[in-house]
Amino acid sequence: MKNTAIPHDSSRPQVVARIDEVRDSVAAARRQGRSIGFIPTMGALHAGHVSLMQAAARDGHYTVASIYVNPTQFSAGEDLSSYPRTPDADRGVCSAAGVHLIFSPDDREMYPPGEQTRVVAGALARPLCGPHRPGHFDGVCTVVAKLFNIVQPDVAYFGQKDAQQALIIRRMVLDLCMPVRIEVLPTVREPDGLALSSRNAYLSPEDRRRATCLIRALERGRDLLLGGERSRDVVEGAMSGEIAQRGGADVRIDYLVVVDGDTLEPADPPHGTVLLAGAVRIGRTRLIDNLRVELPT
Ligand code: AMP
Repeated sequence: MKNTAIPHDSSRPQVVARIDEVRDSVAAARRQGRSIGFIPTMGALHAGHVSLMQAAARDGHYTVASIYVNPTQFSAGEDLSSYPRTPDADRGVCSAAGVHLIFSPDDREMYPPGEQTRVVAGALARPLCGPHRPGHFDGVCTVVAKLFNIVQPDVAYFGQKDAQQALIIRRMVLDLCMPVRIEVLPTVREPDGLALSSRNAYLSPEDRRRATCLIRALERGRDLLLGGERSRDVVEGAMSGEIAQRGGADVRIDYLVVVDGDTLEPADPPHGTVLLAGAVRIGRTRLIDNLRVELPT
């Protein structure tokens, strides 16, 4: 049945699964003079996602959130089939956060039969998560490009929690001349500092306690840098030590590094805007986090 293309005015968001329904609703909102704010997500929504949705609503946009677990950004052996899916709760979260339209497509809608075209991320995708998640950022760029083409937002909101992703998306938008502004908002954390993540749901109570080792390590690195330390080796060594001490010997470090905040290349010596970034595996759960630090010149 054809969508009536009236933007939802009630507090309940409209939920659609088809691209033409998104286009109709967005076109109707534009006819009413609204700008469009967009938040791409994979669902299992938490306060981090909410902060992005609320920002879009607060900025006065007709607010569109997508909920789609994108298969092409999962590498072989990753958690695609077990990724948490909580569609009913997600609707309530979107509703409370002021979202007007939820786009929740299936794989066929996003990857039509015979599809063969992908966006390939460049050098920013090589360090940090790059070697540990082959093809991940190509999948992210591909799905975000598709979603931008479907929603055609004025502004899209991303979280600093996924710092590498945010830089890669900014680069893609520049490189492919996409008419969308990218806003990157601060990481939302639990009271003990753990960055909110849909994957935190995997943590056992014991692993949840140990999971704070990552933010404690990043804070240790930040404190050393702000205290004047300028040896990357010393800072990275101290961060790894913190993981071993607080997390235990079985916490595996994928990376825990000091990189340039814009290029993600090793910061040697650290200067200007640096990113302290880490990924660790606790049990079966992979956690990432980062801190941006401005060093005095
Ligand atoms: P995801 O559902 O994991 O794909 O994340 C969707 C968006 O929410 C991305 O832009 C993430 O960076 C952002 N996000 C995830 N966790 C947080 C957090 N703790 N604080 C702020 N933004 C977040």
